[in-house]
Amino acid sequence: MRKPRGWLSRTFLVVVALLGIAITFRQGWIPARYTPLPALDIDSPLPLMIDWQLAELKHDRELCRRVVQASKSLKARPIAPRINKNGCGWTNAVRMSEIGGAKIGVSRVSCEVAAALALWSKFEVQPLAERIFGQKVTHIQNFGTYSCRKIIGSKFWRNRLSEHARANAIDISAFRLADGTRIVLKRDWKGTGKKAQFLRAIHSGACNYFRVSLGPDFNRAHHDHFHFDRGDLWTCR
Ligand SMILES: [Zn+2]
Repeated sequence: MRKPRGWLSRTFLVVVALLGIAITFRQGWIPARYTPLPALDIDSPLPLMIDWQLAELKHDRELCRRVVQASKSLKARPIAPRINKNGCGWTNAVRMSEIGGAKIGVSRVSCEVAAALALWSKFEVQPLAERIFGQKVTHIQNFGTYSCRKIIGSKFWRNRLSEHARANAIDISAFRLADGTRIVLKRDWKGTGKKAQFLRAIHSGACNYFRVSLGPDFNRAHHDHFHFDRGDLWTCR
């Protein structure tokens, strides 16, 4: 009787320890200089490590500065932190003007979301635009990143602060191709044409970089945009 019990408790302890380590990396609690994880390289990321490498940017302003400076795919500049008494604000954010060769206008967004957007644009949006339309996306439009509010459209989470309240989310609404063609979520999501095919493919591709990726099929509140964030929840719908 003793042997199996000892084996079980050791296995339990190992599982708890591994879970603890995974949560620590997932939350970005260990400063980058103390982890064996290589720092994120936006131009050539490690596919299996992307989530933890992005999480390292959550609290580390110096790492953010280095990662942004080294990248050709993300044109951004760190901005000063601002935290309000009600929990809204940002600690490690950037102003951003270009991701993966496409212009985007964002005055404040968490460094983690900015890096995830650059990866998404470079490795999903641009290759899919080339394949489906034979040209590049030049502009990505958004409805905004920062808004001090609670979660909208969910009865269960309605008392929780939205990731928008920490500038850790973005709502993407439309795209423009090199020849001027516009692809708009509100108009082009439905159907079987090239534009719908493109939107569905890039939405699915966003799940590789964002923890929450919601589109028009999720609920009415998202009928005209993609919501992407790097918060604690995990869903792709
Ligand atoms: Zn949103």
